[in-house]
Amino acid sequence: MAEELEHRDEYPEKIVEGMKELGLFGLTVPEEFGGAGLDLLTYALVGVELSRGWMSLSGILNTHFMAVYLLKQHGSDEQKQRWLPRMATGELRAALSMSEPGAGSDVQSIQCRADRDGNHYVVDGTKMWVTNGLRAGLVVLLCKTDPSADPPYRGMSLLFVEKEPGERSFEGITIPPNIEKMGYHGVETTELVFEDHRVPAANLLGNEGEGFRQVMDGIEVGRVNVAARAVGLATRAFEEAIRYAQERKAFGKPIAQHQMIQEKLADMGTKLEAARLMLLQAAKKKSAGVRSDLEAGMAKYFCTEACHEIVTEALRVHGGYGYSAEYPIERLYRDAPFLLIGEGTSEIQKLVIARQLLERHKVEG
Ligand SMILES: Cc1cc2nc3c(=O)[nH]c(=O)nc-3n(C[C@H](O)[C@H](O)[C@H](O)COP(=O)(O)OP(=O)(O)OC[C@H]3O[C@@H](n4cnc5c(N)ncnc54)[C@H](O)[C@@H]3O)c2cc1C
Repeated sequence: MAEELEHRDEYPEKIVEGMKELGLFGLTVPEEFGGAGLDLLTYALVGVELSRGWMSLSGILNTHFMAVYLLKQHGSDEQKQRWLPRMATGELRAALSMSEPGAGSDVQSIQCRADRDGNHYVVDGTKMWVTNGLRAGLVVLLCKTDPSADPPYRGMSLLFVEKEPGERSFEGITIPPNIEKMGYHGVETTELVFEDHRVPAANLLGNEGEGFRQVMDGIEVGRVNVAARAVGLATRAFEEAIRYAQERKAFGKPIAQHQMIQEKLADMGTKLEAARLMLLQAAKKKSAGVRSDLEAGMAKYFCTEACHEIVTEALRVHGGYGYSAEYPIERLYRDAPFLLIGEGTSEIQKLVIARQLLERHKVEG
């Protein structure tokens, strides 16, 4: 089913209904708000299994979980009461919007602004690459409430924007046609164009100027999720390769009996195991409520690079058939590169990791 929907780039409505019935949208929502109250480690393991089937399913959950996390950590009681019960059932689903056409890695250079006007903020600006941008009823929006702040992060805030799911035009929000992508099909990625869109001031998360710090806290959850997706995708690629290697014959024997194929399988299996362990370590640390930028950054960097290598090797093991749309490897090969980019590129992870390492091993004098 995933294969057909993926090739048609079709939203998996039925599967999402099943995910709702299973309670997946409420996995980390506290029980008092109708969720299962489980931790990030459980969420990571769910992410692995979903991505082993189809990575896009985990993408449908990821921004939702980041929004749940931000509400739990930084939301007021009134905000939690208002949104969490409907988020727990999946009736209300969330997107998280930081990136813009001119600002991705350099988050502080965003231009989208929210000007206070009485009991409202007036939002203007264009957002880019919003996963779940069309179907979300709630968008966690990173914007500037004080564009002149120096340094810029002091003028950044998070607003919860409520909109009509599925509508391309809604009270000053326009959603152009979905962005066409190489992979990561099924789940929509959109622009969001804001023109004088009014958001109640009560929808501000915490206080003005706290948005950058809040989003950096939330992005650690996103990085653990992307690492989990990488482990799931790589697991599937490895399973496909090890099966195919024993079925396909060349030079009178299964290719699995040729040493160079065995070397590939050994490397793939070892990298996969290392990635799985790094994921578990990062997920446990973040679950414990401790700052985890080093562990989440390392897991995101290592797991996604390992996934990319494993998927490429799995394609080679399949020979020409790996290039055919008949086998799932072709889909995994198109999905894997996104993981190197989303929630911060590998280059950005390396900067985060080095900064943390230098802080922890500071030489005085
Ligand atoms: C399918 C998809 C879904 C996405 N979903 C979301 C979403 O839901 N919400 C959201 O907010 N964003 C989303 N994004 C955006 C994503 O987070 C950004 O694409 C990513 O952060 C990189 O930003 P950029 O594309 O602007 O690249 P740039 O920042 O322009 O980077 C271009 C290149 O320069 C490198 N680079 C940049 N700065 C440095 C530096 N200081 N040192 C070394 N190298 C550097 C980068 O690593 C990269 O290789 C999504 C992107 C994609 C492709």
